[in-house]
Amino acid sequence: MRIIRSPATMTAWSERLRREGVTIGFVPTMGALHTGHRSLIRAARLRCDALVVSIFVNPTQFGPTEDLTRYPRTRLKDHALCRAEGVDVCFEPTSTAMYPEGFQTTVTVPSIARRWEGDARPHHFSGVATVVTKLFGIVRPHLALFGQKDFQQSMLVRQLTRDLNLGVEIIVRPTVRERDGLAMSSRNVYLSMGERAVAATLYDSLRAGAEAIRNGIVDTSAVHAIMVNTIGQEPAIRVDYLAICDPVTLDPLSLVTTKAVLLGAVRLGSIRLIDNLIVSTRSTRNR
Ligand code: AMP
Repeated sequence: MRIIRSPATMTAWSERLRREGVTIGFVPTMGALHTGHRSLIRAARLRCDALVVSIFVNPTQFGPTEDLTRYPRTRLKDHALCRAEGVDVCFEPTSTAMYPEGFQTTVTVPSIARRWEGDARPHHFSGVATVVTKLFGIVRPHLALFGQKDFQQSMLVRQLTRDLNLGVEIIVRPTVRERDGLAMSSRNVYLSMGERAVAATLYDSLRAGAEAIRNGIVDTSAVHAIMVNTIGQEPAIRVDYLAICDPVTLDPLSLVTTKAVLLGAVRLGSIRLIDNLIVSTRSTRNR
């Protein structure tokens, strides 16, 4: 496996392979790789000839009070995982290489970034949109894989790739969970034992909401009450939002007639957890 730090070297590598007709797959990450990342890498490996994983803790997607400096960094373990999964290139640019002096351009996707995570983290999505656009420009992949765990982010990436004609096929893969249902995340290592013990309640709450919809409850205020009630059983958890939304527009729904995405974000001590579930009504599933 090659480790490439220079964007120019990365592009030259990809361009050479593209000329030879090689299909390039790409998994962008911020490192501290876990089984969720591994599942994206494995799914990519099956779909491409050459595979690039980027590891870049992108400063522009962190707010001033967020955890940029203490974001987990496990470089050598990450390399070992990538090697074991047959990754061809680990692309690890520096912040200065990505944002040299004089850097100006930002990419925004206003309608998607407007609410939920965008509301809670004002500059987050322009940071994500800009870095993904840059990474696509540098790596020049044919296809790129993202996790449903970050549902709003995956919608944003699909939208900007389409809007800007980036020519990358976007594949979104299911969330990988711990045994108790907690969505895997690099930040989970910061949960104390007590927090970890109750962290899966977010997933329990989404599941309770999904179950209610599958059982025929269409009024989202009733579904919401069920979700809030489940979370309320763990007083250590503070809800940022629990929402029942249209999976295409992310607008909150008042009635679930076909399909919905249940979005949740909570705080547990200093850690913020997000998760989501997509659910179809019984009538849609029986069609
Ligand atoms: P991150 O390193 O957190 O920026 O995530 C890199 C990619 O891995 C993103 O596309 C995430 O959505 C995806 N990812 C993170 N956690 C999971 C998970 N538990 N299951 C599946 N994909 C994930």
